[in-house]
Amino acid sequence: YTRIVLNERPPGDIDSKTFRSEKVPYSKVKVGDDQVLVQVTWLSLDPAMRGWLRDERSYLPPVQIGETMRAGGLGVIVDKGRNVKSKIGQLVSGTFGWTEYAVVNEKDTEAIDAPQGLLEIDYLNNLGMAGLTAYFGLKDIGQVKAGETLVVSGAAGAVGSMVCQLGLRAGAKVYGIAGSQDKCEWLEKEIGVTKAINYKGPSFRQDFRDIGYLDVYFDNVGGDILDMCLSRLNRNARIVLCGAISAYNSVGKPKGIQNYLTLISQRAKIQGFIVFDYVKRYPEAIAEISQGLRDGSIKRKFHIVEGLENAPSALPLLFSGGNTGKLVVKVAEP
Ligand code: NDP
Repeated sequence: YTRIVLNERPPGDIDSKTFRSEKVPYSKVKVGDDQVLVQVTWLSLDPAMRGWLRDERSYLPPVQIGETMRAGGLGVIVDKGRNVKSKIGQLVSGTFGWTEYAVVNEKDTEAIDAPQGLLEIDYLNNLGMAGLTAYFGLKDIGQVKAGETLVVSGAAGAVGSMVCQLGLRAGAKVYGIAGSQDKCEWLEKEIGVTKAINYKGPSFRQDFRDIGYLDVYFDNVGGDILDMCLSRLNRNARIVLCGAISAYNSVGKPKGIQNYLTLISQRAKIQGFIVFDYVKRYPEAIAEISQGLRDGSIKRKFHIVEGLENAPSALPLLFSGGNTGKLVVKVAEP
């Protein structure tokens, strides 16, 4: 079977030398007593994966050269050790990596039984990391309230489009920032944001000023857009530091933030978070989001790339803005 490993650490953008494909003989597969062999069907591509390529301290250890590229995904149990209770054929989610088959501990998998009205790949999106990040970031850190102004960057992405919808459900005025006219149209027409603005468009600075002052800024991108938002804070504003994708490929330290003194004058708060901190509360989020998906009040969009071999060239789409909604790779027919 095929797996894709880290070939070299990219100094800047991911390129054709970053990863390499390897064939692994099936005879090498050994399933321990507490382990399962999973045939991978879907993989999630996430901006965080760029961070895992850096040899730096973070919330997870870096992927080592020659190691299978780490990735979350879905798959079917095709073999199991003698202590395993899960059944053959069970669909599970887990950190399987860029591979067609993975041996993992049963306890590191989560059984998925997508009920009617839900798609299996919802568990890589709104019911997976993206949705949970949006949910806890906005509710816990952002504490958005009805009538407030919420600004979301990376708004047409997996996390951002979910944040926009949760903001609207909470009764906020929601302004999305995204990188193309098509994305802005999708945000306004499908997602229903108050207004979407294109940060690559000629009138961005003026469009941004027209938003006025903000109560919550949900930051997916960092850099200049974060800096601009810091200059437009209402009293007691909250800034949710979710991601800073504009800096993920950068060499050296990201550019400095100029407008942070506004945090003082406006008694504002800025706070980072990692979705895994909320594991105990995932069921609460999943109950609410799956209800919204089933009654159609929460919208989702997938950008599907076919074939494991295309994962390395698909990952950079996250940095060029080539995706709208959740980027996933279909590895095998489920
Ligand atoms: P997205 O689906 O949002 O894809 C990334 C998007 O970022 C692209 O489509 C692109 O859209 C935008 N982008 C890329 N480069 C830039 C740039 N230089 N400036 C502005 N926008 C840019 O990815 P996710 O929804 O999976 O992730 C969104 C963010 O959430 C990431 O920063 C990620 O690291 C973070 N995250 C944080 C978690 C946590 O626990 N804190 C957990 C999960 C995700 P456009 O065309 O608009 O530029």
